[in-house]
Amino acid sequence: MDSRIPGFYDEDRETRTATVAERCGLADDAVEALETGGDVELADRLSENVVGRIGYPLSVATNFVVDGADVLVPMAIEESSVVAAASHGAKLAREAGGFETDVSGPYMLGQIQAVDVADPHAARGRVLDAREDVRALANDQGVLVSHGGGCDDVTARVVDTPTGEQVVVHLVVDVCDAMGANAVNTMTEAVAPLVEDLTGGEVSLRVLSNLADRRLARARCRVAPADLDHDETDRSGEQVRDHIVDAWAFAAGDPYRAATHNKGVMNGVDAVALATGNDWRAIEAGAHAYAARDGYGPLSTFEVDADGYLSCSIELPMQVGTVGGTTSSHPTASAAMEVLDVESADDLAGVFAAVGLAENLASLRALVSEGIQTGHMKLHAKNVAAQAGAPDDLVDEVAARLVAEEDVRAGRARDLVEELTE
Ligand code: NAD
Repeated sequence: MDSRIPGFYDEDRETRTATVAERCGLADDAVEALETGGDVELADRLSENVVGRIGYPLSVATNFVVDGADVLVPMAIEESSVVAAASHGAKLAREAGGFETDVSGPYMLGQIQAVDVADPHAARGRVLDAREDVRALANDQGVLVSHGGGCDDVTARVVDTPTGEQVVVHLVVDVCDAMGANAVNTMTEAVAPLVEDLTGGEVSLRVLSNLADRRLARARCRVAPADLDHDETDRSGEQVRDHIVDAWAFAAGDPYRAATHNKGVMNGVDAVALATGNDWRAIEAGAHAYAARDGYGPLSTFEVDADGYLSCSIELPMQVGTVGGTTSSHPTASAAMEVLDVESADDLAGVFAAVGLAENLASLRALVSEGIQTGHMKLHAKNVAAQAGAPDDLVDEVAARLVAEEDVRAGRARDLVEELTE
């Protein structure tokens, strides 16, 4: 399968869908699931008080090579430019071999909080002495063990809080190919009575931690300066490369910039999460908590390597699954997983990290050269035309005129609609 599809963005929607179906070997029901987004009965089963559904565009980013294999990446997002940027970042990386990824392993943490503990440090010691019993009880629940996973380790901490010291027990759980929240929560609830006995306190919260720092995904790529040259500015590739490094340094030194830098990363990550039915709130929570571990900073790093290439890397917690949640139960998410065609949650986590890095690379390249508004407004022009009241058959024409006039504004769009519908 080749993820390079020149001119893909210029095709009509039906042709794009057919191309993806053909390259990924999708059956008709998978194609239908991509096009329809599931039905209202399914929506009614997934949440509460359901009255309808809201449709997000489901796109496919091209050009990705991850660990030597081409991959087409499904992305669900309403913001224009995000999918184009991911595809562009992937194209830049592709020239030098694409992305290499690795994952620290599918370990999630479950927390059991004990309050009103008489001697927290002694209680912690008793939990550690009995860690094998706690681990065995967690695994007695039968979740994950049959898949080769389960609770691998038990740790305990004394946490100083505004209401005094608390004993917090952590279950370190190998969740295999699941995101793991339900599985881990089942275990934390099961071991709570034993933790209460061991600590002599009262157990209150029993729930997983979204700071999944035992489940880190990393991606790396490099870009030759010549590939960073851009027609729209007179900056050389070397200058663009050096400004990207300065932009990273800005984020490393200033949390106001780091927040936006990381928002760019998460534009890509969240879109893949939404398309594949993964829990983007969990991923968001983990990413920002991880970014704040030594004072809030950027999740990615940009440097110049010994060959003068731009060296790009990213590391972030990645709590994603190929089974469970809505990934398995939503037909559109299942079809998106077929497009991705990954073997395991670890492989999926690597793709997520690569997409976050591609997104970040492309937006920094644009920011340090022509700026992001030119491209963004070009892609946003159809929205502006539709909001200005352009009828369906005139949206493309109004948008094209706005772009040609380099005046993508609501006022100008309204004038054009009036002119064309007179
Ligand atoms: P799940 O319970 O739907 O699926 C996991 C189950 O799949 C496992 O218990 C196992 O029985 C089965 N399974 C089959 N094949 C497997 C394999 N190869 N590897 C691992 N398990 C396999 O879902 P989950 O992953 O435990 O939890 C994810 C869901 O929990 C998401 O929908 C998420 O939104 C939700 N959730 C999140 C939070 C949070 O992030 N704080 C809290 C509660 C619930």
